[in-house]
Amino acid sequence: MNPQTTREAWFRGGDQGCITQPLTTARPCRLILLGPPGVGKGTQAQLLGRELHACHLSTGDLFRAASRDEHPSPAMAAALDTMRSGGLVSDKLVVDTVRERTSCLRCRGGFLLDGFPRTLAQAEALETILDHEGVALDAVIAYELPLEEIIDRLSGRRTCSQCKTVYHLAGNPPRKPGFCDRCGASLQEREDDRPNVIRVRMAAYAMETQPVCAFYERLGKLIRVPATGSPEEIFRRTLERLEACAAQPLAS
Ligand code: AMP
Repeated sequence: MNPQTTREAWFRGGDQGCITQPLTTARPCRLILLGPPGVGKGTQAQLLGRELHACHLSTGDLFRAASRDEHPSPAMAAALDTMRSGGLVSDKLVVDTVRERTSCLRCRGGFLLDGFPRTLAQAEALETILDHEGVALDAVIAYELPLEEIIDRLSGRRTCSQCKTVYHLAGNPPRKPGFCDRCGASLQEREDDRPNVIRVRMAAYAMETQPVCAFYERLGKLIRVPATGSPEEIFRRTLERLEACAAQPLAS
C-alpha cells in the first residue's frame, strides 16, 4: 500500500520535495483524469493513487489552497475570483502554475493529473512540457455520466478541510456526520458546488474540455469509462480498462 505522499512539491511548487517519498514502482503510471465536474475524478484519483502508487495532482486543489492564502498575488486573486464564479482560470496562469511543478511530472511515483489540462491550449502546453522532460503519458481516462446524476453527486459532495478526502452524503457518508474518517477534521461543502455555479462549470466543460477529449483520442491515448455505479465499481472498471490497454502490467 502506498503511504501516499503529502504532496508538498505540488502545493508549494518550485524545487520543494515531498517529506514522504513515493514507493518506487517498476513502471510509474502517468495518467490524466478527464470528466465533467462531479463525475468523481477526485475519488477515483485517491483510489488509483493508492493502487498505482502515483500522486494525485489536482489544479483545483491548488487554487483552493491558494484561496486560504492571506496575501495572494494580483494574478492569483483574479484567478480565485474566476474560480468562485465557476469560470475557468486563464490558460497562462494555469500552465505557469504547472510549469513551476515539473518535478511532480518527473516523480518516480508517476502522477494522476486531475483537472488539468482543461482546454486545448493547456493540453498542447502539457505535451510540450512532457516532451521537454522526456516523460511519456500512459493514458487519458475520460469519465462519462448523465447530467442529472452529476448534479445529484455535486450537491451531496463534502470534502475534508485538512486531508481533502472526498465523501458523499448518500453514496459514501463519513462514519461520524460532518467529520473525516481518516483525520477527524471537519467536512466542508465547496463554494463552487452551489447549483448556479454548477451550471457555469458544466457549460465551461462542454465548451472547453470536450475538445481536449478529442485531442487525446487523436493521439490514441483516450480511454472512456462510464462513471455509473459505486466508487468501487468505477475504480474496478477503470483498472480493467487500463489493464486492457497497457502494454505491460500496471504497478500493484
Ligand atoms: P476542480 O476542482 O478541478 O473542479 O477545479 C475547481 C475550479 O478551479 C475550476 O472550476 C476552475 O475555476 C479552476 N481550475 C482548476 N483547474 C483548472 C484548469 N486546468 N484550467 C482552468 N481553471 C481551472
